[in-house]
Amino acid sequence: MKKLIIQFCLIFLFNSFYTSLALAQSEDSAVIIMYHRFGEEGFPTTNVKLSQFDQHIAELSKDNYNIVPLRTIIEALKNKRALPPRTVAVTIDDGYLSIYKEAWPRLKAAGIPITLFISTESVNDQNPSSMTWDQIRELDADPLVEIGHHGHAHAHMTEISNDEAKADIEEADKIYQRELGYIPDLFAYPYGEFSENMIEIAKSKNYEAAFAQYSSAVNSRNDIMALPRFAFNENYADIDRFKLIINSRALPVKDILPRTADLDVNPPSVGFTVDDNIKGLGAMNCFPSHIDKAARINLIGTNRVEVRFDEPFPPGRSRINCTMPGPDGRWYWFGLPFFRLNTVN
Ligand SMILES: [Zn+2]
Repeated sequence: MKKLIIQFCLIFLFNSFYTSLALAQSEDSAVIIMYHRFGEEGFPTTNVKLSQFDQHIAELSKDNYNIVPLRTIIEALKNKRALPPRTVAVTIDDGYLSIYKEAWPRLKAAGIPITLFISTESVNDQNPSSMTWDQIRELDADPLVEIGHHGHAHAHMTEISNDEAKADIEEADKIYQRELGYIPDLFAYPYGEFSENMIEIAKSKNYEAAFAQYSSAVNSRNDIMALPRFAFNENYADIDRFKLIINSRALPVKDILPRTADLDVNPPSVGFTVDDNIKGLGAMNCFPSHIDKAARINLIGTNRVEVRFDEPFPPGRSRINCTMPGPDGRWYWFGLPFFRLNTVN
């Protein structure tokens, strides 16, 4: 009996050791990347070269990454469940023909799951650079592929009325229902542009999650209706940058100011508090998208970061990227987007 108890205790200790080891290695962080076009020279802001994409796939195929369907990340974030280090999901927006011709065969051969956010108008209009519904249905039948909602007309939804935005989404709903037999429940804001109003609309549509387009790793503290994605185009798709991004991890922050991406004070006073256990904030840099040098950072106490900018942000989309070196040669990455309507002075 005594021997049995000792044996039981040893098994218990052994199991808890390995459980805690696995938990210590897992983290509240993931990286979501996005593409548009593949091998379509002439569209440098949305295209990646095939040579670049081949390098990306070769890197993602290495053992040290945990490549998952987007939904796996969403479920982990919602349930505050940690993920293995270097968890990455791949998304592609708009529905260009080069997805079908170039991206999908490569991703399928590598066994990499993808989520395709398709806007319905250009497909319906049989735009020669878009996929057809037959091709989209063929992709949809592949277990590696999920189709997401991207609205109908690819509108700047923060610049139209709520009613117009809802009407656009409902037009797409009808078409998805007709062509695919269901309405996707993952949503990507066209151009990544969102607002408090758009988040409310996304919630009212009961989407599982909604996605923006700005550089940041995600964690469970992100608004599930405005999750960041790293976008790649041929000017910013070299393999070193790609590796830096897919190895990055979310910087755990709270008390973020300003509270919304709608830029009502310009330049904004950005501030956030980093968790106590993160050391080395002195090495942090924050780069705004509109100025070619790092912003001024004031550290208050040991972990409050205040970021200040010398110049106002221009109209349209802007962002800041705050990064600092972390353990294992991986970088902490925290970004914020800002949207300033053209009409606002
Ligand atoms: Zn798009």
